[in-house]
Amino acid sequence: MRVPTPRIGVLALQGDFACHQRSLAALGAEAVRITLPRDLDGVEALVMPGGESTTMLRLLDSTGLGAPLERFVRERPVLGTCAGLILLARESGELPFPTLGVLDVTVERNAYGRQIDSFSDALDAPALGGAIHGVFIRAPRIRRVGPGVEVIVRHREEPVGVRQGKAVGIAFHPELTQDLRLHRWFLERVAGLSLPSHAAVPADRERA
Ligand code: GLN
Repeated sequence: MRVPTPRIGVLALQGDFACHQRSLAALGAEAVRITLPRDLDGVEALVMPGGESTTMLRLLDSTGLGAPLERFVRERPVLGTCAGLILLARESGELPFPTLGVLDVTVERNAYGRQIDSFSDALDAPALGGAIHGVFIRAPRIRRVGPGVEVIVRHREEPVGVRQGKAVGIAFHPELTQDLRLHRWFLERVAGLSLPSHAAVPADRERA
């Protein structure tokens, strides 16, 4: 049966639109560039990429996209990576505007220290089928996880990926690797979307 192409918004005010677009396209989804309120019409889920959370919050305010985006993430599936996680969190330290607050977590920006601003390491993600590789770029640390929040990815016991209902926030960058499992899990399991069967299959199924 032919499945309609899912339309997934990717916030494109600032940050890495292109890498998320490549991951979504590999899974058979269309990435829609979101810069204006009307761009949200007809998209089934949203990705909020990494970048600089202070700049993103200022642009959300000056473009008028902030309020419609907030309505969208309260009702619809959203995946925030790195700065996207910061924007989704309830508490994120000092920022020029309030965050969206749909994930009951406290994050600390740039909390991995200056000398090791960026690193990559193996992560534990049972919901995704085991180990995945995480690229961290001036990443936030998740310091508190509220009672309704599920930890989906850990780095040495520490939470680095969380889910609360339809909102998912992760501190690392799956779009910078070839591994599509996190995007696939978000689209299929969190957003409940059907992906075209010709789309790339995850490594675990390829081996089976
Ligand atoms: N350090 C950035 C911030 O505080 C996040 C970095 C990223 O998204 N890669 O917003």
